[in-house]
Amino acid sequence: MSFVKVLKCRECGREYPVKLLAGCEDCFGPLEVDYHYDAIADVLTRDVIASRPKSIWKYRELLPLESDPVVGLSTGATPLVRAERLGRKLGIDNLYLKNDAVNSPTLSFKDRVSAVAINKALEFKLEAVGCASTGNLANSVAANAAAAGLPSFILIPDNLEHSKVVATSIYGARLITVKGNYDAVNRLCSQIVDRYPWGFVNVNLRPFYAEGSKTMGYEIAEQLGWRAPDAIVIPMAGGSLIGKVYKGLKELQKIGLLKDSTVSRLYGAQAAGCNPIIDAVKRGTREIRPVKPNTIAKSLAIGNPADGYYAAGLIPESGGWAEDATDPEIVEGIQLLAETEGIFTETAGGVTIAVTKKLLQQGRIKSGDLTVLAITGNGLKTLDALPLETLQAIEPKLAAFEEALGGIYHVA
Ligand SMILES: *Cc1c(COP(=O)(O)O)cnc(C)c1O
Ligand SMILES: [Zn+2]
Repeated sequence: MSFVKVLKCRECGREYPVKLLAGCEDCFGPLEVDYHYDAIADVLTRDVIASRPKSIWKYRELLPLESDPVVGLSTGATPLVRAERLGRKLGIDNLYLKNDAVNSPTLSFKDRVSAVAINKALEFKLEAVGCASTGNLANSVAANAAAAGLPSFILIPDNLEHSKVVATSIYGARLITVKGNYDAVNRLCSQIVDRYPWGFVNVNLRPFYAEGSKTMGYEIAEQLGWRAPDAIVIPMAGGSLIGKVYKGLKELQKIGLLKDSTVSRLYGAQAAGCNPIIDAVKRGTREIRPVKPNTIAKSLAIGNPADGYYAAGLIPESGGWAEDATDPEIVEGIQLLAETEGIFTETAGGVTIAVTKKLLQQGRIKSGDLTVLAITGNGLKTLDALPLETLQAIEPKLAAFEEALGGIYHVA
């Protein structure tokens, strides 16, 4: 049973029945899922949501599946962590972390989008799935496809972190490395879906896939007692997640589940070495000038972001702002989060921490703002980006141990 009304073109408004479609046939604009919100409001109450098992499927009326999900059943319901120690360092009294570094099954927020897309591929009875990926989506699509018993074709740029490559091929995926950056990979994938009867999650399944990101917004609001925080900081690659968190919060408001009359100010974060959306926001325009990525934050390295135009619009509309962080600042951000909160995030999370620091310094986020930072990926996947520590082994003797400490520590 589904509450989906139509697929609707975001540009010209043309409506389509639910089917496999990459974009509008008239204007090539992106398609978005539209729902019967009145009917959803009748059935989806706070109590109903609270009574369901903890996963993204608690909000299934707001997701585009016809039938019950088969894979990704434990995806979502990630912790919202109160971060007092990090808050003190940054100067925020009321700071929370949405920790998707421990999402299931592959330790990034991409598990939310891939779960919806792979289940949709099963409903469409597609014979194979695939994606273009900067790393985390590759991991997640390969894992969920394996669990669904579907073959997967995963295309990645040739400069990805070793751990993300291994954590894709282990699932038996057909992993294809492409000479060039993500934008070249993405163009190739568009040609592949024109020729083969496959579902590429971020190409012809994109309208469904993208809906999965809304669940991060739903969870943040529910975990705060059905409140929208004052500010949310979100790392951006294609610019999809930030737009869907915004859409998700506005949907909760529309169906009467949110206590606030306004939704959050949204702040976008990118690496300085790949900042086309930040650049557009700062120029006061939605027109994206594509860049050639050069950053350690490879999961965010999309030079020509598919949803950049919309992200650059909604950020100022929400009252938020956008900032970027250099590679050394990203590493510092990863270390600061680990040392203050015991959470090890990947480079994208380092971008979020570093950018939040700047937004505080600029007065864009105030110390009293209820602020949530989206920690979207796990640090064990991007060890390559961190300084390598070489440790000298000691003799298994107490004297050697004390010598290794350099005589700084004294037993009282
Ligand atoms: C893909 C990704 C993002 C950004 O996602 P978009 O929806 O493309 O903007 C953020 N963080 C991590 C770790 C990612 O893998
Ligand atoms: Zn159109």
